[in-house]
Amino acid sequence: MKYHSTRGQAPIADFADVVLTGLARDGGLYVPESYPQFSSDQWRQLRGQSYQAVALAVMAPFVEGAIQPDILKTLIDDTYASFRHQAIAPLKQLDTNHFLLELFHGPTLAFKDYALQLLGRLFDHFLQERGQRLTILGATSGDTGSAAIEACRDKDTIELFMLHPLSRTSEIQRKQMTTVLSKNIHNIALKGPFDECQTIVKALFGDLEFRDRYQLSAVNSINWARILAQVVYYVYAALSLGAPERPVSFVVPTGNFGNVFAAYVAKRMGLPIRKLAVGTNKNDILTRFFDSGKMRTDTVCPSLSPSMDIQISSNFERLLFDAFNRDAARLAATMATFENTGTFSVSPEVLSALRQTFIGGRLDDVGITAVIRDTYQRTGELIDPHTAVACAPHLLQHLMAQEPGTAVVSLACAHPAKFPDAVKTATDLSPALPAFLGNLFEREERLTVLESDRAAVKAFVEERLMAKQSV
Ligand SMILES: *Cc1c(COP(=O)(O)O)cnc(C)c1O
Repeated sequence: MKYHSTRGQAPIADFADVVLTGLARDGGLYVPESYPQFSSDQWRQLRGQSYQAVALAVMAPFVEGAIQPDILKTLIDDTYASFRHQAIAPLKQLDTNHFLLELFHGPTLAFKDYALQLLGRLFDHFLQERGQRLTILGATSGDTGSAAIEACRDKDTIELFMLHPLSRTSEIQRKQMTTVLSKNIHNIALKGPFDECQTIVKALFGDLEFRDRYQLSAVNSINWARILAQVVYYVYAALSLGAPERPVSFVVPTGNFGNVFAAYVAKRMGLPIRKLAVGTNKNDILTRFFDSGKMRTDTVCPSLSPSMDIQISSNFERLLFDAFNRDAARLAATMATFENTGTFSVSPEVLSALRQTFIGGRLDDVGITAVIRDTYQRTGELIDPHTAVACAPHLLQHLMAQEPGTAVVSLACAHPAKFPDAVKTATDLSPALPAFLGNLFEREERLTVLESDRAAVKAFVEERLMAKQSV
């Protein structure tokens, strides 16, 4: 499989290059040159198979030419061996046609593990093959950081530096990062907000001499391998619920548009997905887009679902590329407009084509609290504030009304114990951490506090890397 940049000016790449590069050199995102097609018979053959078997079948055509099938199988088996539910991504029924897809059975209790655990292994595999090493630099407001650290810990080929805003993550989120004491993991607590962490990371990626000298790479969801790994659970869930015979719709709590884009890829591969609902919190730029065809950034306000507090959804570019019939020049011009003015619009034709599949829906903090409480009262399930957005009543009703008997699946993106305060406010209950994390609060922490200053971060990274090289 060959991959093209959405902006059309970067070299065509294979899967290995795409994984190691992350962002294309022209600033675009890599997409496969075509979506492999599965027939109804091929889907049916996967029904009833294990998560790992479905993963192998779904991923194989995308990695062709870069990884041998037996190696891919080993990587997949190894990735999901540490997950704490035999089904990996189990479904739980909440109502006649309403299901929760639980994506919090990985090591850090959020769906990021499903992709990052594989990405860590893919990095290691390709780097060993090439005899290379990588330095991963990232900024996190919570879930991505812990999932990336768990995925890269103890890998000889990788040094990982993760910046988080000092005292602004939840205590659980911080501990999940800082109690990993592996020598290749470097936690930096920055004296500044998340935006400044991200600005410093971007500036260091822009420092080409630095970037090339230390082989800098990224783990955020612009990396195609993350999208690919997430396609699997949509297929697995839809087949479990009776696809291809029975139509299925998904409600996806959305931030960077990575997760819901993976659902779109599954649909493009021939999986009969009826509708995709893009759930947003009060930071509702995407809901406004699907209503109006106009994307316009606004200031981000902190909400009860912090992993969705985003105003620029990077992966939306991949969808727009397809919506523009893969016209890279047109896409690049639109993205330039967006970067310069903070806004762009699509034509009524493009909007109506997108609305064949997508709808947007917003749930503010009051709504989130009400949904957590109501879900608990009706079903006995505790859900986290991101999952609550995926259970917004107006979205569920809209999807159920499409076609009687459609299975509607809400993505449960994080374990309720990751966001105990919101759950407690809504239900008066404190969700317990799973047993394997029970002693999280007693574990030793290691982190370095730095001033919010690019030179200070750069000096710290260099010092650590030099110390490693001289060993
Ligand atoms: C990352 C995250 C999201 C947003 O997912 P995107 O792929 O960025 O759209 C939603 N909920 C939780 C719990 C997350 O960790």
